[in-house]
Amino acid sequence: MSEADLSEFLCLSAPNQNTCKVGLAMEGLKTQDRVNLIAALAQPKTIIRDGAICKWFEARDLRVSLTAVTVHRDGRCRCAR
Ligand SMILES: [Zn+2]
Repeated sequence: MSEADLSEFLCLSAPNQNTCKVGLAMEGLKTQDRVNLIAALAQPKTIIRDGAICKWFEARDLRVSLTAVTVHRDGRCRCAR
């Protein structure tokens, strides 16, 4: 039997199913910033916390909520589709 794929359900359950602030913000980043961010997001949360990513965005004048970062990292946003 194949593995259940819940991604579609998870997407529909996401609080911001239409837009992902992380994905949106990422589009506007400089290449180096984007590379750094993608690498940071891939780190375990115990090493790079969601709050740290949030502050990183703040330092770049981008408003990305902690929830948006968490949802994105958990793959519950539209980016994961
Ligand atoms: Zn996302």
